[in-house]
Amino acid sequence: MKVLIVIAALVAYAAAQSCPNIVSRAEWGARAPTGITYLNLPVPFVVIHHGASGSCSTQAGCSDIVRSYQDQHMDVNGWSDIGYNFIVGGDGNVYEGRSWDKVGAHAPGYNSQSIGICFIGTFTSSTPASSAINAAQQLIACGVGQGNVAGAYSLIGHRQAVTTECPGDALYAEIQGWPNWDANP
Ligand SMILES: [Zn+2]
Repeated sequence: MKVLIVIAALVAYAAAQSCPNIVSRAEWGARAPTGITYLNLPVPFVVIHHGASGSCSTQAGCSDIVRSYQDQHMDVNGWSDIGYNFIVGGDGNVYEGRSWDKVGAHAPGYNSQSIGICFIGTFTSSTPASSAINAAQQLIACGVGQGNVAGAYSLIGHRQAVTTECPGDALYAEIQGWPNWDANP
């Protein structure tokens, strides 16, 4: 019996370890969404973005930028919330956007069947910090483990959905080496 309890604890520990730290909306100071649409899970796509903004290396600095993205998306674009499902900072933290279960606004044609992950910064000529890349990859694995992302998901860059330079040439080259990158979505 004790052996079973130990095994169960180890399995639970391993499952918890496979998910990165996620800074909640309350922690980064999110505004409430003005509307919510739920995704059908698991989603078959993961779409990678960059914010085409300045960068950050602390939770306070990254939270400032995430709030600026939300303001831009709600006040300028007229969307119901920050567009991305998750945002990854140069501090190695994942920031909660629309999360796993809500339809985002980030890639036309893919919003209702994907999780959109945005790296804070501009990655045309350099890639994100290794801590940020690790966090994003861990987040995707976590999503698969939790049944939010299909095991046979396709990973794409925003530019594969619509004409845009996003996620930047350097980050686009980087993600082509990631698991499940799909050249022909
Ligand atoms: Zn994008």
